[in-house]
Amino acid sequence: MLRGKFAGRVWKFTMRSLTLRWLVLLATVLIAVIIGVQLFWLNHVYSFEQKNFNTNVVKTIRGVYEDFNIPTDTPHLQELIEHPAADYFIFRMPISPSDDSLVYYVKQELNDFEVLTDAYVGHYKTRAGRYIGENYISTVASRYRQEKISLPIYQRNYDYVTIFFPHRNKYVLAQMNFWFISSALLFVVLIGLAVSLFYFYRQRFLVEVQKDFVNNFTHEFKTPLAVMKISADVLLQDKIASQPDRLHKYATIIQNQTQHLQSQIERLLQIAASDRKELPIEKAKVPVRDIVEQAVAKVQPIIEDKHATVEVQLNGSSGYELFADRTHLELAVVNLLENSLKYSANPHVIVSTGRESDQIYISVKDNGVGIDKKFHKNLFKKFYRVPTGDVHNVKGFGLGLNFVKRIIDAHHGSIRVNSLPGIGTEFRLLIPQS
Ligand code: ADP
Repeated sequence: MLRGKFAGRVWKFTMRSLTLRWLVLLATVLIAVIIGVQLFWLNHVYSFEQKNFNTNVVKTIRGVYEDFNIPTDTPHLQELIEHPAADYFIFRMPISPSDDSLVYYVKQELNDFEVLTDAYVGHYKTRAGRYIGENYISTVASRYRQEKISLPIYQRNYDYVTIFFPHRNKYVLAQMNFWFISSALLFVVLIGLAVSLFYFYRQRFLVEVQKDFVNNFTHEFKTPLAVMKISADVLLQDKIASQPDRLHKYATIIQNQTQHLQSQIERLLQIAASDRKELPIEKAKVPVRDIVEQAVAKVQPIIEDKHATVEVQLNGSSGYELFADRTHLELAVVNLLENSLKYSANPHVIVSTGRESDQIYISVKDNGVGIDKKFHKNLFKKFYRVPTGDVHNVKGFGLGLNFVKRIIDAHHGSIRVNSLPGIGTEFRLLIPQS
């Protein structure tokens, strides 16, 4: 019955996570789409503003033609005007206006058609083979200083006027200020939304993991209590006094279950207490060999119970010493060993030690169920247990690896996980030697 309940809980946990994940994914996609649409519009508006600028310059040139009474007899004004580069316009000039009147009319028309950016105007004479006048026209609001430039020469067989807009790009962008400000506001809102979403997701994840822990907790304590109740009922039977073997058997069961409960509670209390404050690390010189051997000795009852084999390979490191907290480090290795024995059907565990550059490592490798790569990043989080569906039913609180990590962090070391589902898992503790 308990097994069925447990399986249901895991399934529910996975379902909740899945819905949440889909929601977060959907929201992320929506945010990405909004950003995409906004960028598309910005680009669109930019093209529009550029076209608008060009149209206004063409209108300006037509105005100049009208000012000089030059007939634009060709039906397409565009044929008189060329646009060799984004910021250059050239147009035919069949008459020879004075420099001042050319500048005056160009300036006038630029103003009329609201092309409010600085311009260089030059009149190129084919016969002379050069510009006979080059003038800088600045607008009232111009913030720029006039720079000396020489206008490029375009080989044409007619005279022409060149208009160059040195700040055209900045001007076009400045027309889009409203769009930039509104886009920036939108991005700020979206970033805020994404950050809230992230925190919401993390919070929900923690809540789920903690709910899972409470369920586990109940499960872990319910079974021994049920067994103890049954045993106590047996011991209360009248005829038990005449059956010393049964009496002994059930009293032993109660004792074992009590011990089990006691050790579980102690473990929880230890973790809860160590959680509140910094781990009290007392470092001393300690041989790596001692840590490994003591840890293996501590899990001996489990090794025997599971008919497991545990191999210790010191790889010539038997003389290595660490400057570390012996009790805590031993506890870390015990936790890893317990997991290896817990999560393997026929455990064959290899504990090895050695050196990796300036660090000493202790590795615990098993032939157990393994852990999918996607769960690795969560393994050391408090209360986290790999969701297994109904594949196996191993009890635990999801606190062991978190504790191992805290111990190794306190030693400024690191943990490497190597695992393949169905093949096995290796946890490698890397600890600086001093
Ligand atoms: P638990 O009390 O659940 O064992 P741990 O923090 O020790 O908590 O481990 C977290 C999870 O990591 C476990 O629930 C288990 O799914 C997975 N795990 C840890 N060690 C192993 C291992 N050696 N093989 C397979 N899975 C493991």
